[in-house]
Amino acid sequence: MHQTSLESAAVGLPAAAELDRALRNAAPNEVIATALKVVGRDHLALVSSFGTESAALLKVMADVDPSIPVIFLDTGWLFDETLRYRDTLIATLGLGDVRSIKPLEETLSREDPDRELWFSDPDACCRIRKVEPLARALKPFSAWINGRKRFQGGLRAEIPVVEQDGARLKFNPFANVSREDIEAIYSTANLPPHPLLASGFLSVGCMPCTSRTSPDEDARAGRWRGRPKTECGIHTTKTA
Ligand code: SF4
Repeated sequence: MHQTSLESAAVGLPAAAELDRALRNAAPNEVIATALKVVGRDHLALVSSFGTESAALLKVMADVDPSIPVIFLDTGWLFDETLRYRDTLIATLGLGDVRSIKPLEETLSREDPDRELWFSDPDACCRIRKVEPLARALKPFSAWINGRKRFQGGLRAEIPVVEQDGARLKFNPFANVSREDIEAIYSTANLPPHPLLASGFLSVGCMPCTSRTSPDEDARAGRWRGRPKTECGIHTTKTA
C-alpha cells in the first residue's frame, strides 16, 4: 500500500503535519501526552543535554510519565558539572529510564585519536560524538521529543511543534514557550539550576566548545564561539 500524505513515515502513526495542526497551540504537557498516546511509551524517547534549561522539559515530561526513556549523549567532552546535574535531576524528578549514550571507542580511536577533532573539524567531531550515537540510540524508537524553542532564534526560529525527521516523528513541545515560561517552570517546581549557570554559562555543551556569555549576548553565543557553527547537527541531520 502507498503511504498517503496523512501517514507518517513511521508505520501506523499520524502524519507530522496533521499532528502539528492539532497541537499548534497546545501546552507542552499536552504535546507530550499526545505523543505518548499516539506513539506509545516503548517507541517514544526524549533527548536531553541536561543543560541549563533542560530541567524544565524533563519536569513537564516527568509529570506526564517519568518512565519515558531519556537519551543523554555523553560525548566524552562534557563538564563534570553536567554529569552531576544529570544524576541530580534523575533523583529529583524520579526519572526512570535515562540512557547515557557514548561514542563508539573504535570510532574515536580511528577518527579522533588525539582528541583534537573539536578544533580541526568540529562538524566531524559532532558527527562521531553526537549525531552517530543519537542515530544508534534512536533505532528502537519511532518518535522523539526535544527541547528547542523558537525564541532561541537562528535555525530554531520557525520550528513547528511536530515535524517529520527521516522515518521518525519529532515533537518540539517547547517550540512556542518564552524564556519567562521556562523560568516559571523552574521557579514553580523549585528545580535546581545547572551548577555552571551561576558562573556565567547560559548555555552548556562540550567543554572545548562552550564559553561564558556577557549580559548583552544571546544565550547560545558562547557555543562554538568565533566559528560559523551554531548547531551540533542532531537537529539538522535526519536521524533515519
Ligand atoms: S560540541 Fe565540540 S567537543 Fe562536543 S562533539 Fe561537537 S565539536 Fe566535539
